[in-house]
Amino acid sequence: MNKLVLNSESLNNVLENKTISRQETIEIYQHAIKDPRELFSVAHNLRKKFKKETVTFSKKAFFNIVNLCKDTCTYCTYKAEPEDTKLSLMSKQQILELLQLAKKYKCVEALFVTGEKPEQKYPEAREWLKKNGFKSTVEYLTHASELALELGLFPHTNAGNLNFEEMRELKKTNVSMGIMLENVSDRLTERGMPHYLAASKRPKTRLSILENSGKLKIPMTTGILVGIGETIEEIIDSIFAIKQLHQKYGNIQEVILQNFQPKQDTIMKNNPSADENYFKTIVALSRIIMPEMNIQIPPNLSPKSYQSFLSIGINDWGGISPLTPDFVNPEFSWPEISKVDENSKNAGFDLKCRFPIYPEFFSFISKELRDKMSVIEDREGLVKEEYWR
Ligand code: SF4
Repeated sequence: MNKLVLNSESLNNVLENKTISRQETIEIYQHAIKDPRELFSVAHNLRKKFKKETVTFSKKAFFNIVNLCKDTCTYCTYKAEPEDTKLSLMSKQQILELLQLAKKYKCVEALFVTGEKPEQKYPEAREWLKKNGFKSTVEYLTHASELALELGLFPHTNAGNLNFEEMRELKKTNVSMGIMLENVSDRLTERGMPHYLAASKRPKTRLSILENSGKLKIPMTTGILVGIGETIEEIIDSIFAIKQLHQKYGNIQEVILQNFQPKQDTIMKNNPSADENYFKTIVALSRIIMPEMNIQIPPNLSPKSYQSFLSIGINDWGGISPLTPDFVNPEFSWPEISKVDENSKNAGFDLKCRFPIYPEFFSFISKELRDKMSVIEDREGLVKEEYWR
């Protein structure tokens, strides 16, 4: 049988609910990179089958709690040094004020972000914690999350590699949590590679954090960063690693596919952006590997073409903030929600606002959190229009 027939056969199998192997995925990629039409069409059909005509987003405010970080990823512009003007050490008062503003803007999600274990490396972080009356960043995050809930916002924390106890604590106040897998390749942690100086990004470590989130039944957002020097096998292995975690624990609520964009103040500033055709092929491959998964691309990182991703498998735009920048990609402002709405409609999809937890995972969280959500929740488990428009 020739390769072309095999490719079509494998794709048809996915449509008939059969799983696809790593080797079949590599062969589909090799064909699709020359002619992606068949792959895109199958990805689109799967998306329609499992996600209908809806595309979701989460209306959020981004709380850059502390951007000191003990690691260094060579693509990261989020991380600050104590002397940098972009240093962020939010006080309790600043958090409160931003929460109040977020409520005024009808945000639903409070996204709390920190660097990796800042207090382990920086005296400035230890001083900041002490000044605000906390012993650890996690204790501070717990306080911020409680405050968010009191004001009617729903916390989602991404604070790097938290241990089991820390995650268990944050589960009480966070409807979901996030940590990017980035990639399962050990090669990308070797000297000269993007994760060489980032112990927290060792694949084994990251996978163990995700395993812990599974054991704790935390609805989890994870994802991969595309275009940082990986091979296609490494990307496919990363998507399969996420799939396997989800098969084992059932707690991966969404997969973010993020296309690399070089940042001027980073070591990787001269590396090219992820090629759009390559990125699109990976998006479509993700849909065929995980047909029922919630798959997200950030619209601000593909400002001219994000709506075209709707026809190749995605069903979510992630968090969009009407009031705070994307501190991870500060040069790319989020599109206006009304524009995303219009562009989604033009592509044949209805934009709806979700909570930072997808409805399929509501049973994972406490009754207290569910009761708070029910105030603004519609019959589909999404946010009633009057609470976000
Ligand atoms: S990507 Fe995360 S772990 Fe890496 S340097 Fe930036 S803040 Fe630190």
